[in-house]
Amino acid sequence: MKSLTNRSLQVSNRKMTLMERIYLPAIIGGMFITFKHIFKKKATVKWPDEERSRSEVYRGRHVLKRDEKGAERCTACGLCAVACPAEAITMVSSERKKGEEALYREEKYASVYEINMLRCIFCGLCEEACPKEAIFLTKELMPANYERSNFIYGKDRLVEPTDSRVDVSKRQEPAVVMNKYNDK
Ligand code: SF4
Ligand code: SF4
Repeated sequence: MKSLTNRSLQVSNRKMTLMERIYLPAIIGGMFITFKHIFKKKATVKWPDEERSRSEVYRGRHVLKRDEKGAERCTACGLCAVACPAEAITMVSSERKKGEEALYREEKYASVYEINMLRCIFCGLCEEACPKEAIFLTKELMPANYERSNFIYGKDRLVEPTDSRVDVSKRQEPAVVMNKYNDK
């Protein structure tokens, strides 16, 4: 039969030599390779005891920011949900009532805001789409969990705590902000 390529190899049925039959040289060769790797720098880290350093603009779990007075910035406009290619964001918008000015910055706010972290691909498009600088990705990793339902992050885990604010200044370098608004 005509060969399809010119890279065919003739198979040999020659008998193995004594050294090949006792496998010793191959075993010693394999052990030598293993031994060599003991002295090389390890490519892996012992997670979770050790953490690999991540960039300040690493795209990890999200945070819903508050303004400088502590009010939630999100106005439930839905632009992040529209921009999300994974359809991971859902929200319910509500109207701010009298006396809630300190809680919500705008007249409309998200009474429910959820991100399905199993769907999220951490692309950062929600952050780019947000006109209120309300949602940011942080360099925090998503913790593992056994239950799928625990990957639906609601406001209880997304809104930043008032007593430990999340620094997103590295994601808001002037050039980045200018670029964001020039694109719109
Ligand atoms: S990071 Fe990307 S995939 Fe995840 S919620 Fe935001 S837009 Fe959707
Ligand atoms: S996070 Fe930003 S884009 Fe998303 S609903 Fe709130 S204000 Fe709109």
